[in-house]
Amino acid sequence: MVNRDSETKGMMAWVPGLRQTGCTVRGLALVMVTGSLWAQAAPAEQTIVIRASKLFDSDSGRVLDRPAIVVRGSRIESVGSGNGPLPPNARQINLGDATLVPGFIDVHTHLTLNAGNAGYEALGISVPRAALIGAKNARVTLLAGFTSVRNVGAEGYADVALRDAINAGDVIGPRMQVSGPPLGITGGHCDSNLLAPEFHYSAEGAADGVEAVSHKVREVVKYGADVIKFCASGGVFSKGDNPLLEQYSPAEMQALITEAHRLGRRVATHAHSAVAIKDAIRAGVDSIEHGIFLDDEGIQLLKEHKTFLVPTSYPLFWFQEHAPQMHLPPWVMEKAAIIIPAAKQNMAKAFRSGVRVALGTDAGVYPHGENWGEFWAMVELGLTPTQALQAGTANAAELMGWSDRIGSIRTGKLADMVAVKGNPVTDVRLLQHVEFVMKDGVIYKDEISSNGSASPAKQ
Ligand SMILES: [Zn+2]
Repeated sequence: MVNRDSETKGMMAWVPGLRQTGCTVRGLALVMVTGSLWAQAAPAEQTIVIRASKLFDSDSGRVLDRPAIVVRGSRIESVGSGNGPLPPNARQINLGDATLVPGFIDVHTHLTLNAGNAGYEALGISVPRAALIGAKNARVTLLAGFTSVRNVGAEGYADVALRDAINAGDVIGPRMQVSGPPLGITGGHCDSNLLAPEFHYSAEGAADGVEAVSHKVREVVKYGADVIKFCASGGVFSKGDNPLLEQYSPAEMQALITEAHRLGRRVATHAHSAVAIKDAIRAGVDSIEHGIFLDDEGIQLLKEHKTFLVPTSYPLFWFQEHAPQMHLPPWVMEKAAIIIPAAKQNMAKAFRSGVRVALGTDAGVYPHGENWGEFWAMVELGLTPTQALQAGTANAAELMGWSDRIGSIRTGKLADMVAVKGNPVTDVRLLQHVEFVMKDGVIYKDEISSNGSASPAKQ
């Protein structure tokens, strides 16, 4: 088995996106977004003191009272009680009875897709159009409190363009790791089976055989992938494949994952079928996405290999409510009817068993900006609100290899934090309305602060 903890921690420092992470927005004088939502410049050494009623410590799972966070530039300078001396001339932000939480992290998004873009209609969306859809959804996602995301699957490298545009300060959005086109077998979930043979169309990530998958990993890395996504089994939104069956062989998975790790990239796999889940874990995958038909042996393997489960639970609930109005193709509806009850049951069992969970929403299957629903759904299926919050902060940061910079409000980390009114540990639904968002020390949203920090934008 690949020892991911020791192997990839060092490597992830070399993920290309990291070198560009974050600070360009601070060069802007003042960016009005809309109404009370704005990004306000933090000159390189501006110091901000943020006070709130509570702070959720994602490392310990404890809630601390009356925190005072000192932010200098893009980083957290100190986390304390506010009783000691604080820097003079610092800008003061008082968030009243709110709870500060580390910026949320979503490890499974599809920012360049809109909900409902399935089947034949999706074929009419160009790559440039997808990138612009991504710009809209990146903004919505950031303002919902998600300051970092992993985008897993985008044709034409629209996600690479989006990541780079955010890092350059051209558009606002979360810090991103991106996969580019997802790898998959010919005719599988990550290919496209909608067109007649005479069109000779294959998705960009289609690759078959040990040599071809190794080459494809090198290719997507060449064009900007921070993480590798592949499809180990069939799925719901694809025509003509079966979520109960495995797609890549164990040998292909082994070759793909070995090559990705060699190049310092972690690997996420879409896996529904029990056999695909187990073969991917044995081959050293870093996270199982969806895990619909996870069985007892699969749960045991997840624990043995310390592999993360990314359950994407909220779509199960959302889909049941909204699918009838979405006019989806019949093959989607037929598969969903089998998958939804099985997934709810198996995720609840996995949660009870104590597997490691990282929050991933599959946003794009449902509207972006509703990502908070994953916290709620995981609690519905048995996690405590504290565990759900950890899945969407500290655990997600660990899966992305970014524990050294995000995932908790700690001295030296990037100043990514959000605030909600009240205490989300006692009521997870409070996460639905994030009232304060800071990323890299820049405030993008503040509906609470009473001291007029919004005033330049409001005047
Ligand atoms: Zn997905």
